[in-house]
Amino acid sequence: QARIWHDRAQALTDDRRLDGRAWINGQRVAARDAQTFECRSPIDGRLLVPVARGQAADIDAAVQGARQAFNDRRWAGKAPAIRKRILLRFAELINQHKDELALLETLDMGKPIQHSLGVDVPAAARAIAWYAEAIDKVYDEVAPTADSALALIQREPMGVIGAIVPWNYPLIMAAWKLGPALATGNSVVLKPSEKSPLTALRLGELAQKAGLPDGVLQVVPGFGHEAGEALALHMDVDAIGFTGSTRVGRAMLGYAGQSNLKRVFNELGGKSAFIVFDDSDAIERAVDAVATGIFFNQGESCNAPSRLLLHRGIADDFVKAVVARAARWQPGDPLNPRTQMGALVDEGQLRTVLGYIDSAREQGAHCLTGGEQALADTGGFYVQPTVFDQVQPGMRIAQEEIFGPVLSVLRFDTEAEALALANGSSYGLQASVWSAHIDRAHRVARALRAGTVHVNQYDEDDITVPFGGYKQSGNGRDKSLHALDKYTELKTTWLRI
Ligand code: NAD
Repeated sequence: QARIWHDRAQALTDDRRLDGRAWINGQRVAARDAQTFECRSPIDGRLLVPVARGQAADIDAAVQGARQAFNDRRWAGKAPAIRKRILLRFAELINQHKDELALLETLDMGKPIQHSLGVDVPAAARAIAWYAEAIDKVYDEVAPTADSALALIQREPMGVIGAIVPWNYPLIMAAWKLGPALATGNSVVLKPSEKSPLTALRLGELAQKAGLPDGVLQVVPGFGHEAGEALALHMDVDAIGFTGSTRVGRAMLGYAGQSNLKRVFNELGGKSAFIVFDDSDAIERAVDAVATGIFFNQGESCNAPSRLLLHRGIADDFVKAVVARAARWQPGDPLNPRTQMGALVDEGQLRTVLGYIDSAREQGAHCLTGGEQALADTGGFYVQPTVFDQVQPGMRIAQEEIFGPVLSVLRFDTEAEALALANGSSYGLQASVWSAHIDRAHRVARALRAGTVHVNQYDEDDITVPFGGYKQSGNGRDKSLHALDKYTELKTTWLRI
């Protein structure tokens, strides 16, 4: 099985079938002065393809094309049933190209092929399909008025949306922006991460094949400080849907202030708390859930439960069980369908994660398992699943987002202490509480300052529910019908009757 995926990967790179050029106005185009950067696989460091290094001029061409498409209403002006049909076809094509997209995703960012196939591609297709289905089901409003007047409250597309996405779930993050932004009739300029641009570029072509008019979806790869900054500063972009780090989210607000006050929807980092009380009757499931949460996707998930808060009486046994479970998450060849944990996205990320591990040791935390680089002879970037005990709230690994497979264990004696620890973070993306007592579970869930709280589970998720953070985890919400609102302007029209 691994052989099949290796052969396919080899064929892709040997035959030079990969195309790293940008996608603008329905065509593959080189960046200005044919500038490129090397796209390498974190699996073994092999060169995949040179990718267009988008500059301000390329972003400008993409925005102008997107604006033209919006102004002549070649997309927004189509009947809802037609837009719906095209986006459903787009979703279908994503599913039909599952093997190809999954292979690209795995080669580009290092996640296991079984997860690219089983999670990333289907979730991206479902997000597009779900918003397609909403197109002809969401109605505008009429306000209560005096007999002599009628007030229509309508949602209109904003215009040109800049979507700037990270590398950890490249397809899903793109789909969470494209679904609602395209469904509501906008044009989109998508800037994928320089670390994982390949699947986004294929999305441009598949959307065209599905019937999306040229110019409505532009994809311009490049670096954050070049293409990303140019998009966020562009005077003709109406909103930025950003997913990424809190550091860059802060910059996004600055770019909007310096340019045209475009709307900024920030979906940022996290340091999610996973709280287990000694009255929990689901300890085994809790062990599984926290291990899966922190080690899935190599720990490169914004909502990874990276802080495990344990009631002191159960802590020793719980920690032992988590350490035993970590052994099942040893990194391996991402192209082997049995592998559960793959490679970190690049050498920089490997250095960052190892740096946090060093800091934890220096600050006095105890490494119970892992803590080292793995599979270094492959030329790729792997790290062992790692658990630190005796973590204190002020330590860097208790406060900063590591974005790697590193779990920090903290202990508490009372409910109030658990809450203070959980909320003692600048982030507020997600949290989980485990208790057999419904009153306690509700009390704690209500007091947690996080956009999503799980009670006695961590893995339920669906496009139907909002996803986003409190505090410095962001100000927007992806997914659900709430995300449709983001990409529209509200217009009130008064009529005398
Ligand atoms: P990042 O902030 O470094 O980059 C994200 C995107 O912004 C990339 O496309 C990058 O090229 C671009 N960018 C970087 N600097 C820029 C600049 N100065 N101007 C304009 N664009 C710029 O984040 P990352 O390392 O790609 O992703 C990891 C982060 O994303 C983590 O913090 C993670 O928690 C977060 N994330 C959040 C969510 C969520 O929904 N809340 C989901 C996934 C990831």
